[in-house]
Amino acid sequence: MPALFVGHGSPMNAIEDNEFRRGWADIASSIPRPKAILCVSAHWETRGVGLTAAERPGTIHDFYGFPDELYAVRYPAPGDPALARETADLIRSAAAGLDVERGLDHGAWSVLSAMYPEADVPVVQLSLDTGKPPAFHYGLGRELAPLRDRGVVVLGSGNMVHNLGRIDFRRADGAEWAVRFDATLKERIRTRDHDALVRYEELGPDARLAVPTPEHFLPLLYVLALQEPDETPAFFNESTVMGSISMTSVAVGA
Ligand code: ZN
Repeated sequence: MPALFVGHGSPMNAIEDNEFRRGWADIASSIPRPKAILCVSAHWETRGVGLTAAERPGTIHDFYGFPDELYAVRYPAPGDPALARETADLIRSAAAGLDVERGLDHGAWSVLSAMYPEADVPVVQLSLDTGKPPAFHYGLGRELAPLRDRGVVVLGSGNMVHNLGRIDFRRADGAEWAVRFDATLKERIRTRDHDALVRYEELGPDARLAVPTPEHFLPLLYVLALQEPDETPAFFNESTVMGSISMTSVAVGA
């Protein structure tokens, strides 16, 4: 199974018919149907590592000031407690806790509702222990590798460039620094320079603007860690929007 990093952008992408949503649907139809999805989303940050283990995870509306229509969305995909336990075994060094209460956040369901609109593929989420350095997340990603052979798609959901403080909702394109940093990251991904990506804070002055906080960037590291040496990354939804958001997404092993 491939591993996918998806730029999720605005929660409105969950209900708008736009190019990004079509890109998510297209990638899902171009890969084999997974047995389950393990999603690493920007929107579940914890101390210590958590895994969702509910049989029927709820839909979390973790955003404010959006239209009622968006709060009415439910994504009733089943959970997969067995996969949660299996994943905890793979990453034993992280001593992951199983959370039987937690539902799916919008980083997961806004994208999955386009990829699998029938909500018939089980979903487990892995949290981000954002107290840990980037190398920890890359290392954890490597430990997930056996899941690819077991029919599980690992789905990272964030944004390679994400600065809400600089956002301009009226702007269709990206600011110069955002476009430039998006290109820098793509080049490092293309040349498999994962070490530079783990040390993204050292990628010049744009890095601080593009990744002011780590949570939207870190899901990318889980996906890159799953790239085998003979696999070429494939980009999709390559654009920067609203000044400070990159929607650029990448598939490895697809
Ligand atoms: Zn987000």
